[in-house]
Amino acid sequence: MEIKNQYLLDLLKRTEQRNANEPEFIQAVTEVFATLEPVIEKRQDLVDAGVLERIVEPERQIIFRVPWVDDNGKMHVNRGFRVQFNSAIGPYKGGIRLHPSVNLNIIKFLGFEQTFKNSLTTLPMGGGKGGSDFDPKGKSDNEIMNFCQSFMTELYRHIGADLDVPAGDIGTGAREIGFMFGQYKRIKNEWVGVLTGKGLHYGGSLARKQATGYGLCYFTNEMLQANGTSFEGKTVLVSGSGNVAIYACEKATEYGAKVVAMSDSNGYIYDKDGIDLNAVKQIKEVERKRIKEYLSYRPNAEYHEGCKGIWTIPCDIALPCATQNEIDGESAKILVKNGCKVVSEGANMPSTPEAIDTYLSNGLLYGPAKAANAGGVATSGLEMTQNSMRLSWTFEEVDEKLHAIMRSIFKACDDASKEYGMPGNYMAGANIAGFIKVAEAMKSQGNV
Ligand code: NDP
Repeated sequence: MEIKNQYLLDLLKRTEQRNANEPEFIQAVTEVFATLEPVIEKRQDLVDAGVLERIVEPERQIIFRVPWVDDNGKMHVNRGFRVQFNSAIGPYKGGIRLHPSVNLNIIKFLGFEQTFKNSLTTLPMGGGKGGSDFDPKGKSDNEIMNFCQSFMTELYRHIGADLDVPAGDIGTGAREIGFMFGQYKRIKNEWVGVLTGKGLHYGGSLARKQATGYGLCYFTNEMLQANGTSFEGKTVLVSGSGNVAIYACEKATEYGAKVVAMSDSNGYIYDKDGIDLNAVKQIKEVERKRIKEYLSYRPNAEYHEGCKGIWTIPCDIALPCATQNEIDGESAKILVKNGCKVVSEGANMPSTPEAIDTYLSNGLLYGPAKAANAGGVATSGLEMTQNSMRLSWTFEEVDEKLHAIMRSIFKACDDASKEYGMPGNYMAGANIAGFIKVAEAMKSQGNV
């Protein structure tokens, strides 16, 4: 990924200087800039409107103290973030990540990506992201509730159903969203759809839980079909064993593939007969235990410490669904050597630039995160619609809408890649299609 355009190079340099020590944010900006050259050359009006200078600067960044008390009466202090990146096409929208690795850099990279992803969904949603360096692992329900209430006690003043609508992400599932929603309602004394990913009995949408993983497979299936192949009979690796990974595994299996490996941050399991997803759901969704426990359900499977090793297993299709930069150049080369033909991203920015270069130079089909994992936020958008209409659609209705959105996202990426002279480069297609809509909206709204 090399940038030649001098205007983009100068702007990237200024962005690097202004955001020193934010490597993931700069990585995300560089990846987008590297694919926007043909647009910049064709659309001087967008350059003149200063769209690029503005799009790399969040509209607002909020950092706050989150004090909470554990079960032994000890006080802890975490740091909370909400980055409201871009509201050109709708209220800010994006998840809340709870993980010790969270800092402003991580939230900014995710918020920047979210802006383009939300644009691709065709729904009116701007880009935002939030989180905290709080680690939910090993905490009691009571400690999780204490943290979530404290987090919302500050966050509530910055969000709203027409302003900024957070959702789940790593470490934030239905339990955490429930605690946060309860606290928002209590402080504001109003019931509005201010968060998505809510429980089904209080305004959540059917199929939201499945949406990112299913959406990833819908997108991947479109990409496979457009290139004359399918999931049928393919061997698949799915990293992670959280919300995205579990439902990616479920849909890929439904499509006729065999998923042979999954992981968590400690290690990975390899089951040559195909993953028993009910066992994984029991371990991860019910018991909240480690993936290693899988061996007690399937003694013939293997467990290996460390997460990188999963990419050494021969496969046809890799679906990274854990975290950023989980596939580096070396892992990408091993995937290629072992015959992998497709990488499609459930996690956000799971491939390093070297890994992406390896996919593209070896002719792999590559489904970039901001298109391939957009099904989660798209269904969050559908949850907002249902809340506003005060009604609930059936699972089939939501799933059908999700499927149609993922088809249209693939088409938008495919069309843009062809129009701008890079057919089959869906990363370029996603960046260009996502960018143009936001850029046109920013230009129309003047110099704000
Ligand atoms: P979960 O918290 O449900 O699961 C995350 C999974 O990834 C867990 O198995 C976790 O293992 C593993 N993981 C997390 N951090 C690391 C790490 N540093 N190294 C190795 N493994 C790690 O999160 P989600 O499934 O919701 O999110 C997964 C990815 O998908 C993220 O990149 C997220 O931003 C992205 N995404 C999520 C969407 C959603 O709707 N949930 C929507 C779009 C994108 P462990 O349990 O050991 O921590």
